[in-house]
Amino acid sequence: MKKITILGSTGSIGISTISIIKKHPDLFKIVALVANKNFAIMLEQCKLFSPDWVAMKNETSANILRIKLKEEKIKTQVLSGNKNISALASLEENDYVVSAIVGMAGLLPTLSAIYAGKTILLANKESLITSGCIFMNALFCSNAKIIPIDSEHNAIFQVLPERLQKNLGKFNLQEHGIKSIILTGSGGPLYHLKKEDLPFVKPEQTFAHPNWNMGKKISVDSATMMNKGFEYAEARWLFNASADEINILIHPQSIIHSMVEYIDGSVLAQISVPDMKVAISYAMSFPKRISSGSNYLDFKKLNYLNFFEPDFKQFPCLKLTIDAFSHGQSAMTVLNAANEVSVSAFLSSKIKFNKIFEINNDVLMSSSFSEPTSVLEILEIDKKARIQTEKKISSLI
Ligand code: NDP
Repeated sequence: MKKITILGSTGSIGISTISIIKKHPDLFKIVALVANKNFAIMLEQCKLFSPDWVAMKNETSANILRIKLKEEKIKTQVLSGNKNISALASLEENDYVVSAIVGMAGLLPTLSAIYAGKTILLANKESLITSGCIFMNALFCSNAKIIPIDSEHNAIFQVLPERLQKNLGKFNLQEHGIKSIILTGSGGPLYHLKKEDLPFVKPEQTFAHPNWNMGKKISVDSATMMNKGFEYAEARWLFNASADEINILIHPQSIIHSMVEYIDGSVLAQISVPDMKVAISYAMSFPKRISSGSNYLDFKKLNYLNFFEPDFKQFPCLKLTIDAFSHGQSAMTVLNAANEVSVSAFLSSKIKFNKIFEINNDVLMSSSFSEPTSVLEILEIDKKARIQTEKKISSLI
């Protein structure tokens, strides 16, 4: 039985993880659950699993949850605040830590799990792309392991040689017969929209992804294709891939979740219906497989699979992220911070959709930080970039 802690248990990835655990009570035991404010979902999860620990980032939510758990006679201990979240991520009892907090807030707890030598099932891409070098070095210096949950990276992981699966980020791809990684993406919910219609996009339109059901922030990132840029950065770090070794292809049906092209001309792809439970269950059961609760693919219903080059003019955030990656860690930290702030402003209808790129680009171009050598320096760059982005947004409204 694997003991598991879920960081971000009340979100889209967290809830999918819980549904897999519900199907396999003999394989997994929940040690701790972590969220921000959503005490209602957390209460339901506590009723189902009675974990030893819960941490809510928000103190008020933690207090309400304590009262409700007492009424229900559930003995779960409720903590609050960032330090306690990181403490739960590194609990001795944990075998697995699912890293599914959204945004930069996932960085410290994920690192805490790495330092403690846990197996991290990684959904939170922001932690890796903002601190890639430090993140990977921490991984190499510990007994921790990473298994990616992000569907593209999980797909790539599934078709890699075993030696690479067990040593992510360490080895040269070419030496293992790999020519390139083909990162696929649906193009997001606005793929067919004309450029002139982008200023009128409402937040709800970005949530209506044709293939995936995700949290709000990643839904907007998917609509701008910032998400694909982040995934490019994630793949560079996780698979130790050079710029020439990664190709991005738009594949609107989201049936192929990514591919690895080998030097002999073979291409191995992972294909399934678009359901995060497939990727999550694989990460949870690796190297075995368990039922995920997802539907099975019906090939007779697949009329065609299309592939296109991404259009950088239509999706400038994608190019911006790829370029930022080549400038180093501080650029990626700045871009991620600017994006978190601008997406949040879009979600609260303070700015128009097309301003997300403009703001991200402006903040990135006007900042110059030296390369961070510690997590503290990354947090400092993140903080300054957020202030700069808030100022930029205020000047626009
Ligand atoms: P959601 O917005 O659905 O959920 C986010 C989770 O993080 C919630 O449990 C939320 O708690 C919690 N949270 C937010 N801020 C904090 C904080 N400061 N401290 C502690 N907990 C916090 O996001 P998703 O599940 O969609 O995404 C999670 C991560 O996984 C993201 O990094 C995303 O990029 C990545 N990912 C998601 C995919 C998907 O299909 N959804 C696919 C691939 C990657 P509360 O509910 O209380 O606010």
